[in-house]
Amino acid sequence: MSKIKLATVWLDGCSGCHMSFLDLDERLLPVAQKAELVYSPLVDAKEFPPDVDVTLVEGAVSSEKDLHKIRMVRERTKVLVSLGDCAVTANVPGMRNPFLTADVYKRAYIENVTLEPGVPTQVVPALLPFARPVHEIVPVDVFVPGCPPSADVICFAVTELIEGRLPNLSAMTRFGA
Ligand code: SF4
Repeated sequence: MSKIKLATVWLDGCSGCHMSFLDLDERLLPVAQKAELVYSPLVDAKEFPPDVDVTLVEGAVSSEKDLHKIRMVRERTKVLVSLGDCAVTANVPGMRNPFLTADVYKRAYIENVTLEPGVPTQVVPALLPFARPVHEIVPVDVFVPGCPPSADVICFAVTELIEGRLPNLSAMTRFGA
């Protein structure tokens, strides 16, 4: 039986949701028997491939780069999963939303630094006016809340998804599993 194509994507998040995914520990072995991780910060793939079955998305959509990436990922993915509160609600990245982007840059790169203050013009992607949850940009099929979601919740969701089912997480997440 061929393996499903699984991907994970890191937008504006702290990597904690990916760390929680790794906390599956030995439970990653049965996942690896049924799914091939074709793109992720955890592997060395450079290009997001076409025809991915399931993609887990960590983080909010905060920059022009995030915007371009999530649109491309949505086009190439059958089942898109918002993994964690930053993807689901904007959460921590959304804390900047009450402020003007210019003031955020000023605070981060001028007021709070002592060495070579200045707003970067290269490498750092341009911020959008607001950090947005993923479903405000593209359709999302499954929401996995939590900051981060526990390994048990992620394990249940991924196991269901690789079996071709949409996970019903209401009972697990309601009681803080
Ligand atoms: S939901 Fe929490 S753990 Fe996940 S990326 Fe956001 S802040 Fe980090």
